[in-house]
Amino acid sequence: MDSIDGLMDEIVALVKGAAHPARGTVSLSPEVAAALERCPSTVSTVPAAPPTVPAAPREEVVDAGGSGRSLEELAEVVAQCKACELCNGRTQTVFGSGNPHADLVFVGEAPGEQEDLQGLPFVGRSGDLLTDIIEKGMKLRRDDVYICNVIKCRPPDNRDPQSGEKSACEPYLLEQLDLIQPKVICALGGHAAKTLLNTDESTGRLRGRWHSYHGTPLRVTYHPAYLLRSPGEKKKTWADIQEIIKVLRGEAAP
Ligand code: SF4
Repeated sequence: MDSIDGLMDEIVALVKGAAHPARGTVSLSPEVAAALERCPSTVSTVPAAPPTVPAAPREEVVDAGGSGRSLEELAEVVAQCKACELCNGRTQTVFGSGNPHADLVFVGEAPGEQEDLQGLPFVGRSGDLLTDIIEKGMKLRRDDVYICNVIKCRPPDNRDPQSGEKSACEPYLLEQLDLIQPKVICALGGHAAKTLLNTDESTGRLRGRWHSYHGTPLRVTYHPAYLLRSPGEKKKTWADIQEIIKVLRGEAAP
């Protein structure tokens, strides 16, 4: 019996070490899963695991809260993350920046070249425009809000993140938001909006109304990079921002 207990301790330690840092789940091959199911009752205290762990259903990803980690501790975990292949090309992770208790969180899709180099979200010309939206438009300081991306590592050549990369990284965003507890999320651009809302609808169809991301009111607006290319659309983003301001001030309900 002692040898079985010792073996189980080793297996549990191995499984814990292989778990996704945010989700706490592991992938098993069908052969290993079948072998575990055949184990005698003496080892059945190990919870049965599914044969594989596909992209977690959206409502199940919510587990991210409850880890007991602080935002700084989560950032340290993300900095070491190798849960998807984007870790291979990054200079560093881009976790997020701003007020850890912000009422408003801007979420973009993924870091670009400058973000990857500086380790900060939304720098360069797009970042400057976002700063103008916050400071000149909303009359807030950039440090009053929180800014991050769904994906924490730069995709090579700024390609679109793949679905497996999004599902690997999204639990970090959920945990970030769970720790920050914003009143409003603003999705910047179609890629972020489609990921957060699990839809293929265009930015044009998604903006102009309120959505919910795991219970937090979410507004979609254009990405600053798009606004730099299409300045005529800025008035639409301003309309989106005004709706956000009303909710933050308690003047309207989402
Ligand atoms: S993109 Fe996210 S899940 Fe993938 S390695 Fe980077 S931090 Fe980890």
